[in-house]
Amino acid sequence: MKKKLYHIITIGCQMNKSDSERIAGYLEKHGYVLSENKDKAVLVVVTTCGVKQSAENRAYSLIYRLKKNNPKIKIVLTGCLSQRKDVQRRLNGYVDIWMPITELDSLAYKLGLEKIENNSLSGYLAINPKYNSKFSAFVPIGNGCDNFCAYCVVPHARGRETYRDALEILEEVKKLVKKGYKEITLIAQNVNSYRAKITNYELRITNKKENEDFKLIKFPDLLRMVNDIPGDFWIRFSTSHPKDMSDELIKAVAECVPASPKLRGAGKVCEHIHLPVQSGDNEILREMNRKYTREHYINLIKKIRKAVSNVCITTDIIVGFPGETEEQFNQTIRLLKEIKFYLAYISQYSPRAGTISAKMDNDVTQKEKKRREEALVKIVKKTALEENKKYLNKIVDVLIEGKNKKGDWFGKTRTYKNVRINGEALLGEFIKVKIKKAKDFGLEGEIIN
Ligand code: SAM
Ligand code: SF4
Repeated sequence: MKKKLYHIITIGCQMNKSDSERIAGYLEKHGYVLSENKDKAVLVVVTTCGVKQSAENRAYSLIYRLKKNNPKIKIVLTGCLSQRKDVQRRLNGYVDIWMPITELDSLAYKLGLEKIENNSLSGYLAINPKYNSKFSAFVPIGNGCDNFCAYCVVPHARGRETYRDALEILEEVKKLVKKGYKEITLIAQNVNSYRAKITNYELRITNKKENEDFKLIKFPDLLRMVNDIPGDFWIRFSTSHPKDMSDELIKAVAECVPASPKLRGAGKVCEHIHLPVQSGDNEILREMNRKYTREHYINLIKKIRKAVSNVCITTDIIVGFPGETEEQFNQTIRLLKEIKFYLAYISQYSPRAGTISAKMDNDVTQKEKKRREEALVKIVKKTALEENKKYLNKIVDVLIEGKNKKGDWFGKTRTYKNVRINGEALLGEFIKVKIKKAKDFGLEGEIIN
């Protein structure tokens, strides 16, 4: 019998990459075989992103080209654009199946492989994924967002927050660790607001005594439970929201890092927190509906740095939000200089249909957005270099992620720093490296035996 070949194209964030892994697992369970070449596939799934116009445009040109090259190809569109009426009109005749990711369960029915539409109550996150990596895995703990930041399409595109069963999450992590995975990243749009009821059965298997605290599991509890799973692996989590970064969560992180006095080296949580600030100006933060102030954010960073030694803080920033004046932008500059982030993902504001800020005047010119972006990149490069220099001659643990174009091994430290390595290493393994060179966005070092 001829193989049914499929291919998946993923645009966007970790959540989309993770969704694509579940789609791959689902398709293979239904008899499809992966084709590395998209033009040879009979079925192509495009996991789309709508966070910025540029990401949206990529989906359009990809899909037009796919159908032009092979009119018989079946295209499934999922992700952030799957429920947008304007996108459906624009891609009418090009996309065969529009599939919000929460309806992954019924794809076989839509493809004509099953007679009855499946609508699993446990949700699409319960579907077994086919992981892209053999040593590092994203484990989704929830989907959607309730925050409605004024500029953001995610709550409109992915819907309200839903959280995954704690038992199911722990089971997925246990299976991965058993297979030898070395890095587990718990992901959701807003991991801090994770909350889920735990049943008596879950209480038994996690060896937790039933008490009021453990009837409702919150993110700090979940983090401790994942940390309690035996094995040699690192734990990361993303994304955190500054308004939900509670003292209890900071305490849990401090308790679960290797340096924790309580765990005496058995902590697995990495000393890295990604905490998007978006702007350093209170008026802009209010307009963005972020629900915290600059002062709150600075105070949070102080608390985190005090509780978790050697922690690395990274962030996201938007420049050119409607009405952002030069003085308001300067507030962001001052914040960056004060906090000294190791890394900042800087985006030029892009109006998104349906969001609150799309109705405001997009009055910062493209040229000015670009200038502001470049000014911030310059500052972050400087603060990153300063921070990296602290690593010179230190010995750090590195998880090997691959080889670069020049054939050198590279990996990451627990603190999310890229390290280029001199010497032979093994993919997906931890090694000890002595840092010999510090650059603005990375380190270089030699293997220590
Ligand atoms: N949930 C995370 C948070 O609260 O920060 C981030 C999720 S969002 C998909 C990822 C990043 O995209 C945001 O932190 C923001 O910097 C950027 N972003 C979102 N909407 C944007 C827009 N309309 N224009 C430019 N950047 C945007
Ligand atoms: Fe978007 Fe804000 Fe939700 Fe993050 S918290 S996904 S930026 S609405």
